Amino acid sequence: LVRVRFAPSPTGHLHVGGARTALFNWMFARKEGGKFILRIEDTDLERSSMEFERQILDSLRWCGLDWDEGPDVDGDHGPYRQSERLDIYREHARKLVEEKRAYYVVYDKEDPTRELFSTFDYPEEYARKGHPVTVKFKVLPGKTTFEDLLKGQMEFDNSTIEDFIIMKSNGFPTYNFAVVVDDHLMEISHVFRGEDHLSNTPKQIMIYEAFGWETPVFMHIPLILGPDRTPLSKRHGATSVEHFRKEGILSRALMNYLALLGWKVEGDEIFTIEERLQSFDPRDISNKGVIFDYQKLEWVNGKHMRRIELDDLKREFVEWAEYVGKTIPDVDDEYFLNSLRICREKVNTLSQLYDIMYPFLSEEYEYEKDYIEKFLKKEESEEVLKEVKKELEKLDNWNMEQIERVLREVAGRGIASKKVVFQLVRGAVTGKLVTPGLFETIEVLGKERTLRRLERTLR
Ligand code: GLU
Repeated sequence: LVRVRFAPSPTGHLHVGGARTALFNWMFARKEGGKFILRIEDTDLERSSMEFERQILDSLRWCGLDWDEGPDVDGDHGPYRQSERLDIYREHARKLVEEKRAYYVVYDKEDPTRELFSTFDYPEEYARKGHPVTVKFKVLPGKTTFEDLLKGQMEFDNSTIEDFIIMKSNGFPTYNFAVVVDDHLMEISHVFRGEDHLSNTPKQIMIYEAFGWETPVFMHIPLILGPDRTPLSKRHGATSVEHFRKEGILSRALMNYLALLGWKVEGDEIFTIEERLQSFDPRDISNKGVIFDYQKLEWVNGKHMRRIELDDLKREFVEWAEYVGKTIPDVDDEYFLNSLRICREKVNTLSQLYDIMYPFLSEEYEYEKDYIEKFLKKEESEEVLKEVKKELEKLDNWNMEQIERVLREVAGRGIASKKVVFQLVRGAVTGKLVTPGLFETIEVLGKERTLRRLERTLR
């Protein structure tokens, strides 16, 4: 049975690289009919927080990466938060000491970096007197090898690895130890994680071997890079899932883009994870670092915004607005969807959609400064708007063709150039100089609203 896990440390927001690792694990579990487990690696007391944990869970949920076992979903392998498993690690460390594969190290009280001596017997008296005591794993001579699903056969010379701490003096395990104990007890079959952990893997394999446990299949995924080919970090710009959510990227677009990054896909680049799940093979993941391209992500998002059902886009838009604390004025559903239909053609994010949609939804729209300066202040503006209003009032068939005919007719009268006439009208009814096509905009606004807005601008 396939059991994979995503094991974030709650020391920051969910990074897009983490989301991509989670996605590949999740896809593998779902495709193979296995389980996807979420484990919180919160053994770094100072840097971990409940707030980050909450945010990471929230981001994963938003991404659609649901888990079968985790801190909030009971399974048979819990608890799923490392800070709640301390006894398990202590017990296992003790076993290794018994087998002489690990030993206690006693440190100077005043200078805790100075090792006094090491022993296989628990140094009770020293501990009682307040000496820091750790447990160190004993590295045996030889070679450590494993087969990485992407990188092939890996070999490490043990002489390059020193004995390392598995239990810290505060009673907490180190990452390398906790991860092995947990992956084993949680019956993890495949470990897919970022390439930054590659150098940890030989240490982890040594621990598996010391316990006589079977190792999972390992795959180390190349990191996401910035344009300068160093690992993507805050220096390059925003990196958190939360940030892209706030910007108005759809989660389906983010998942599509993250999957595209380093996964050889056949055919169209635009897809939902569901559509490609059956063709997912972790071995198709590229073994090269991939550069995160903000513009491409936005482009992918725009494609999704135009691809999904209008009703779904509306739901996403409303949820997003709520998330970022923006109000969407209340209008009737048909009008809303019509506005959405033409506005989505022009934008690539929900936040851009909000700006272009707003004048459709509210009579309180503002006039752009450029509109006032370059058009409304013109001498001819009043006459143009009055004429347009007069002609549109007479229109009974409110459709694009008729609207276009009327506007072209007024423009042809020579009061102002065609461009000026069109921009004057556009700005009058939306406040903006960039909108969906002028005639369709007016058609969607409807007769009553259009006339009211021309009137408002004339006042
Ligand atoms: N807590 C580790 C991290 O966030 C997990 C690494 C692993 O998957 O083993 O990088």
